[in-house]
Amino acid sequence: MTTSTGGIVELDADLDRLADDLTGELLRPADPGYDDARALWNGLTVRHPAAIARCTDTDDVRAAVRFAARNDLLLAVRGGGHNVAGTAGVDGGLVIDLSEMNHVEVDPAARRARAGGGATFADLDTATQAHGLAAPGGVVSKTGIGGLTLSGGLGWLRRKHGLTCDNLVAATLVAADGTVHEVDEETDPELLWGLRGGGGNFGVVTELTYQLHPVGPEVFVAFTLYPLDRAEQVLGAYRDWTDDLADEVSSLAVCDSVPEEDDFPEHHRGEPCVILVACAATDLDRGDTLTQPIRRLGDPIADLSGPLPFVELQQMFDADYPDGRRYYWRSVHLPGLSDEVIARTIEWTRRRPSSLSTVDLWHLGGAMSRVAPGATAYGDRRAPLLLGVEANWTDPRDDEANVRWTRGCIEAFDELSTGREYLNFPGFLEDGDQTLRTAHGEANYTRLRELKRRLDPANLFRLHQNIPPA
Ligand SMILES: Cc1cc2nc3c(=O)[nH]c(=O)nc-3n(C[C@H](O)[C@H](O)[C@H](O)COP(=O)(O)OP(=O)(O)OC[C@H]3O[C@@H](n4cnc5c(N)ncnc54)[C@H](O)[C@@H]3O)c2cc1C
Repeated sequence: MTTSTGGIVELDADLDRLADDLTGELLRPADPGYDDARALWNGLTVRHPAAIARCTDTDDVRAAVRFAARNDLLLAVRGGGHNVAGTAGVDGGLVIDLSEMNHVEVDPAARRARAGGGATFADLDTATQAHGLAAPGGVVSKTGIGGLTLSGGLGWLRRKHGLTCDNLVAATLVAADGTVHEVDEETDPELLWGLRGGGGNFGVVTELTYQLHPVGPEVFVAFTLYPLDRAEQVLGAYRDWTDDLADEVSSLAVCDSVPEEDDFPEHHRGEPCVILVACAATDLDRGDTLTQPIRRLGDPIADLSGPLPFVELQQMFDADYPDGRRYYWRSVHLPGLSDEVIARTIEWTRRRPSSLSTVDLWHLGGAMSRVAPGATAYGDRRAPLLLGVEANWTDPRDDEANVRWTRGCIEAFDELSTGREYLNFPGFLEDGDQTLRTAHGEANYTRLRELKRRLDPANLFRLHQNIPPA
């Protein structure tokens, strides 16, 4: 950066010093690799930071945090770069990029895994599954453990073993003043409480330690597609099946288009459909039996159900979400799968401007719902269903139509919903403060604000779903 503005020249000189302090690289706009490093998963979110600190250890993170605080720079923290609203980037500010801190150490005897704050679920799953263990994650392996865990974490093990954040047992955190906090139930229960759902508000988490569970290595996966024309019957049957379903099974109904791939009959490809997907984290025979009701509804377009290595299940949707495509997502919890919910799901699936977009119904409950609402900072645990609305498209000329569709769909469900979003899915928080307050619940929100005052009174970490200090 060369400019005649005094402040920026000073910042430039300071950045030189920061570069000297770091073990990792400091990338600036003129550096090779800067453009790759600043690129985020969502092509809709383009950011041009003043610098990107590729941290390699906690000391690097401390140096970068102190630098941002001293220079009053906007600070973004990047884990896997998958946040839909692009909160891992910032125009003109500093990005702390943790992607090189992706180590994973597994202690199979204690059933614990300690992972760097920039690891992805691919890193974590590969290491833990080598021991037949797993931590609950999401359903795409390229997602960062950092962002997903700190705001909850809904994946294939949610009903059996809870949310990802419920399995976070310890963390190392660099706070806004550069101090390092070793956090667990003994040392700082309140901060551990806040890290279980309170987002990136309290500092940079350089390591996360998870409780692991025996899983797989193969699990039974149901994957059955039916025509959208039959969605009323299919979703009705899905409701009946989920009514008293065993906790081993976590599932969702995805209203989508038949993939243009060899696995699917040619004459159906591209048609709107409903896909019932389920993971049975139990022995394979029992998984087969438990999932039969949704695979036997007659005349599926395709039924690809069967045993699958858990690691492969975690990667099954990766190709559907390439880097750089355009994405705008929202979500809201629902009190149940009523006939009206089914009718609106079908209607809004038919109205998609892009055939890549989906309307998803996530069946919740089980272990995640048995944790008391105040036991973690996470929001709605009681709702049995989450509606996810994903606009996915490629052409910038279609931006407006797709964003409008997502918003219209969420509005159409307003009166049928609990009004509480799942904070890992929103494309952008349109009414930030109120959305967060409602999502966390009043009591948790107030407690989060007190915690924020203790850890980050000047609100340095404010770009990701900001909880203002009390
Ligand atoms: C393709 C795709 C699939 C998804 N599937 C699921 C799913 O199945 N279940 C689910 O629950 N969610 C899912 N999500 C949502 C996902 O959980 C959020 O987008 C989450 O923010 C991604 O985390 P990240 O680290 O990759 O993102 P980033 O964009 O890197 O980080 C998001 C924010 O989290 C904070 N953060 C990240 N790492 C750290 C850290 N180490 N320390 C402090 N703060 C940190 C930062 O404030 C940052 O702004 C999915 C997202 C995508 C794009």
